[in-house]
Amino acid sequence: MKKRILILGAGFGGLELSTSLSETLGETVEITLIDKSDFFVFGFSKLDVMFGRAAPETVRLPYRSIAKPGVRFVQQTITAIDPVAKRVTTNKGVFLADYLVIALGADYEVGATPGLTEGENEFYTVEGAERLRGMLPDFRRGRAIVGVCGAPFKCPPAPSEAALMLHDFLEQRGVRDQCDITLVIPFTTPIPPSPDSSKALVAAFAERNITFIPTRRVRELSPERRVVVLDDDTTLPCDLFLGIPKHRAPKVVEASGLTEDGWIPVNSRTLETRYAGVYAVGDVSNPGTPKAGVFAEGAARSVASSLIAELSPAGKHQPYAGAGSCYVEFGGGRVARVDVDFFSGPKATGAHREASTELRVEKEHFGSSRRARWFGMRS
Ligand SMILES: Cc1cc2nc3c(=O)[nH]c(=O)nc-3n(C[C@H](O)[C@H](O)[C@H](O)COP(=O)(O)OP(=O)(O)OC[C@H]3O[C@@H](n4cnc5c(N)ncnc54)[C@H](O)[C@@H]3O)c2cc1C
Repeated sequence: MKKRILILGAGFGGLELSTSLSETLGETVEITLIDKSDFFVFGFSKLDVMFGRAAPETVRLPYRSIAKPGVRFVQQTITAIDPVAKRVTTNKGVFLADYLVIALGADYEVGATPGLTEGENEFYTVEGAERLRGMLPDFRRGRAIVGVCGAPFKCPPAPSEAALMLHDFLEQRGVRDQCDITLVIPFTTPIPPSPDSSKALVAAFAERNITFIPTRRVRELSPERRVVVLDDDTTLPCDLFLGIPKHRAPKVVEASGLTEDGWIPVNSRTLETRYAGVYAVGDVSNPGTPKAGVFAEGAARSVASSLIAELSPAGKHQPYAGAGSCYVEFGGGRVARVDVDFFSGPKATGAHREASTELRVEKEHFGSSRRARWFGMRS
């Protein structure tokens, strides 16, 4: 009988894992990829949508395009996970696995921040990015705040990118002089593992007259009083809020008993959970790397190598390296890159590559290569 590999979640982690397994094992195994959505959207596309650089329909990558040997995509909502029996219940049925990989990402706990509303004043959901896209052209005067409501959060550079892109957006409309921009993040620097990237970002904020408030998070918002309140009780006037909600593991994962301190603990080199044959990759897990697509992808490749090593004589386990490159929008059409490495040395490092138009092309290739690899799209 063919081994059954069940992958929960078709985001960065699940897509890369199913692709890698299919490439080597093909029809010799039964790979089932389950997601509640019928499309995938890159996180960075939400910024493009919000600032009107991409139309919402162009960034939705439909799962029906997936055609890979051995892989079956199932659009269903997972309602229960039993890691001992490797048994998964969905809104439509039950799936049993020989190997179970949880790649369900991070959910948002919007209600934890009074005044924050999903799909309204946050840009971390597709709905929120689309809604703000409609509202931004009306913002011509006043105080804008890009604010983080809790850590950890996905893609640590994203709030800085949003502030810089907002600057460009307002400047292109000729209203920048009438608007203030403030960025509130809970870290001491914009990208803690990279002093050089952080320095470049802080200089970019200063050049553009963006007020940077580090080591603070937004505790609540009062749209009626037009203020946000920070965790040290500072009150800031605010006419436009672009928020990053608090994150949490999906409730179905919490209910499964797999989490500890909010996320699934894993062996940082093998991504194994404490249950035999059960792995977790990406934002839902806690291997010691940030919540970002490149890390979910790297973890997925490592799990693929473990499963291939178990199921085929050719395979060899590749430990998760905990390293990856993140692209950072600097505005003005330029993109920087930070090459972060969490496991090689005694502490995390982040090498900075200065913002350039060449790196913009490289970032575009990052997206198009995944569209081709995961969805078979050539464009
Ligand atoms: C604005 C923004 C910009 C970003 N920019 C970058 C960037 O430039 N580079 C980068 O590397 N990362 C970036 N990220 C982060 C990146 O998008 C995430 O870290 C990445 O998607 C995590 O991958 P994952 O596979 O763990 O989870 P996800 O990609 O979130 O996938 C999880 C999947 O699980 C599904 N799911 C959840 N619950 C259920 C359920 N109960 N039943 C069925 N399916 C379910 C979801 O529908 C989803 O498809 C950005 C994020 C944002 C918000």
